[in-house]
Amino acid sequence: MDIIHSVDTMHALALGWRARGKKVGFVPTMGYLHRGHTTLIELMRPRCELLVVSIYVNPLQFGPTEDLTRYPRDPDGDAKKCEAAGCDILFMPESLYPPDFRTTVNVTGITSRWEGAERPTHFAGVATVVCRLFGLVQPTVAMFGEKDYQQFTVLKSMARDLAMGIEIVPGPLVRDHDGLALSSRNVYLSTEDRARALSLHQALYAIRDSRSPSAKERIALAREKLVCDKVDYLDIVDPDTLEPVELVNRPLRAIATARYGRTRLLDNVAIGP
Ligand code: AMP
Repeated sequence: MDIIHSVDTMHALALGWRARGKKVGFVPTMGYLHRGHTTLIELMRPRCELLVVSIYVNPLQFGPTEDLTRYPRDPDGDAKKCEAAGCDILFMPESLYPPDFRTTVNVTGITSRWEGAERPTHFAGVATVVCRLFGLVQPTVAMFGEKDYQQFTVLKSMARDLAMGIEIVPGPLVRDHDGLALSSRNVYLSTEDRARALSLHQALYAIRDSRSPSAKERIALAREKLVCDKVDYLDIVDPDTLEPVELVNRPLRAIATARYGRTRLLDNVAIGP
């Protein structure tokens, strides 16, 4: 595995691959990698000839009061995990944007609710960084985890709307042994909060496993189970538009974000017919 820090080197290499018709797979991350990330890398391996993983903590997607400066980092550990998972090129730029960067990519509609409502500048930051990374890496296929379900739908829309010619593939949400969705932010949790946080996936499973056709009833059931300091949202939505539904009679998604102290945890589950 090669590690590249320079934006120009990454871009030149990628343009060379494109000229030679190579199939390039891409898994963008913010580092502090866990089994959720390495699962995406392993699943991407057989889908491409060259596999690029990026690690960049993107300031554009953090709000002014969020955890940008204390976001956990472990570049040496991450490099070992990437290599073991089958990565060819680890792209770790120190800075990603030119000083006179002027462009913002804004996906409308599906960004107005949920994470978009709680973090108003977040998805423009995500879409902008992913768009720039796509330009630098020139992937054929990119994978995003269903852990961040709204992010996946936003980036899929972006790639389609802008005719980027990049296949956007969902990766499965990977959980810890006790069901907690793996997240780099789980390290912030105290032992007590981590134990309380198990109620988040349990609440979503209760929604999934209920037989009630009423979304309202299922959500009420889940609210009773959820133990946290604040529920940012807990709802049942259409898997494509992310609009809330009233009737549970087709494949849907239950989504939730809950706060434990200063830490926000996201989770979601598919609801089958
Ligand atoms: P992050 O480093 O948190 O920005 O995440 C980078 C990529 O890994 C995104 O596509 C996430 O959705 C994905 N990811 C993060 N946590 C998980 C998880 N527990 N299971 C699957 N994918 C994940």
